[in-house]
Amino acid sequence: MAITQMWKFRSNSNPKILYETLEHDGERLTCNCPGWCNKKNTLDRTCRHVRSVQAGIANEECEAKIDYRTGTSKSRKFFMDPTKKTPEISNPVHKKRRISW
Ligand SMILES: [Zn+2]
Repeated sequence: MAITQMWKFRSNSNPKILYETLEHDGERLTCNCPGWCNKKNTLDRTCRHVRSVQAGIANEECEAKIDYRTGTSKSRKFFMDPTKKTPEISNPVHKKRRISW
């Protein structure tokens, strides 16, 4: 099992949210949007993002696409919005305290 491609789609309801649609082994598609997650128990599990990939229009609709097989990534200018904050990495710094007797 390996992820072969990934598309990032911006949420319509909340532009701060990006959903990730993953292609596994070049065939199986999964998504992490609510539309996909709410259909846990159905066989025809799909969402607008998966349908977009299957219809071949994902490249026009997504914010970014990463192809792990070729190592190439494409992003729209929207995705490179300078106001977009980079995720902060929590890295607790342990300060050494000098103990004075
Ligand atoms: Zn989705």
